Amino acid sequence: MTAGHAGEAARIIVVGGGIGGLAAALSVASAGHEVLVLERAERFAEIGAGIQIAPNGIHALDELGLGATVRATAMQMDELRFMDGLSDQHVTSLPLTDSYQQRFGSPYLVVHRAELHQLLLDACSAAPDVQLRSDCAATGYEQGATGAAVVLSTGERVRGAAVIGADGIHSAIRRQLVGDGDPRVSGLTVYRSMVAMEQVPDDLRRLRSVCWWAGPGRHLVHYPIAGGRYLNLAASRENGVTEPLAAVPVPAEFVQAEFALMSETVRRLIALGDGWKSWALLDRDPVDTWAEGRVALLGDAAHPMLHYTAQGACQALEDAVLLGRLLRCPSDHFAQRFQEYTAERRQRTARIQLAARESTRLWHPHGAEAEARNAMLAAMSAEQLHDHVAWMHDVPDSLVTQVASVG
Ligand SMILES: Cc1cc2nc3c(=O)[nH]c(=O)nc-3n(C[C@H](O)[C@H](O)[C@H](O)COP(=O)(O)OP(=O)(O)OC[C@H]3O[C@@H](n4cnc5c(N)ncnc54)[C@H](O)[C@@H]3O)c2cc1C
Repeated sequence: MTAGHAGEAARIIVVGGGIGGLAAALSVASAGHEVLVLERAERFAEIGAGIQIAPNGIHALDELGLGATVRATAMQMDELRFMDGLSDQHVTSLPLTDSYQQRFGSPYLVVHRAELHQLLLDACSAAPDVQLRSDCAATGYEQGATGAAVVLSTGERVRGAAVIGADGIHSAIRRQLVGDGDPRVSGLTVYRSMVAMEQVPDDLRRLRSVCWWAGPGRHLVHYPIAGGRYLNLAASRENGVTEPLAAVPVPAEFVQAEFALMSETVRRLIALGDGWKSWALLDRDPVDTWAEGRVALLGDAAHPMLHYTAQGACQALEDAVLLGRLLRCPSDHFAQRFQEYTAERRQRTARIQLAARESTRLWHPHGAEAEARNAMLAAMSAEQLHDHVAWMHDVPDSLVTQVASVG
């Protein structure tokens, strides 16, 4: 990452030390500012399992100086494979090899979430201008003409020239800035487990694929992670859940019963899972306002989305890169730059939020509708499939062209 030219170094407070907050810290520090990251948890850590990173996310990691390390750690996928989860029909595969990589300039990677978070954390720890402080929960912010402060649950004010709220879907900074209440509970639940690869049937063990098995009101996605030592399972079900449950342990028999009508292959895979945990899937409606004066939102705090487009973290990384570029300026320009950032980012991220919601219409129908979907997908050429994802997987124009316009 190239060093920036802020002109005048300012202190910027980032709330939240997830993937988005740490990426923002690196990016803003490279613009020549000092950054303090405030994290609510006792330690900076990331739970969860796998994460897919499309070329747009890899490009952002390249910009942060981490692309090569991520490429060395992650697994490269050969295809996005779409299966009918009732009949075991291989409907289509979107190739991720030669023509995809030529077109989008990068491979499509999967990585363990904790590994990606650790890379960002190591880079922040090594950056002289980034400070990390854990065990401090933000409850809101205050601001004046020349600065802003994060208010902590202890009543302490942590002051800086600007605040970036990267505190996730339940963001305290968003609560004050946007005031749109609690996230929407989608009615969908995801059950997640990891299976040691030696237990996986031979034909599936060899695949370097992100594989979807679509069924009525439910689907299973799996892909290898941790250098291929595990198969990451994420099984989604429309079950009308209304509570925002997170990481709730679920008996294996319960998950098996939820997927009992799927094909034998799917049932065999589900039967391998243990230690299942479930999450109710949450998101929010897109909003136009992500910034107020010297305070701005980033990542899930700004545009939380269902994970079905596998873009939430990629979008947080894009946000971080753009913000770093825009903040190469003295602090009295920050409020204006936050407005420019919002204007550049909101349309793209809103479209992805809505596309993620819409995706179950493709994956969850049954009967004649599922057959029509299969026929439609099977008729698409590799190039047409690439066209279909290009708007997400391509580096957005704002990140290609913005450098020139930012002084
Ligand atoms: C099942 C699932 C699968 C996914 N798969 C993919 C994928 O394949 N590809 C992809 O790109 N994305 C994926 N995503 C989305 C991705 O995980 C998120 O979009 C991304 O992690 C958001 O990062 P963030 O830093 O904005 O928020 P978070 O990861 O939520 O981080 C927020 C941080 O802020 C801290 N915090 C919260 N409140 C406070 C407070 N008041 N004060 C201080 N700190 C606070 C939290 O402890 C946390 O560390 C998936 C999501 C899910 C649920």
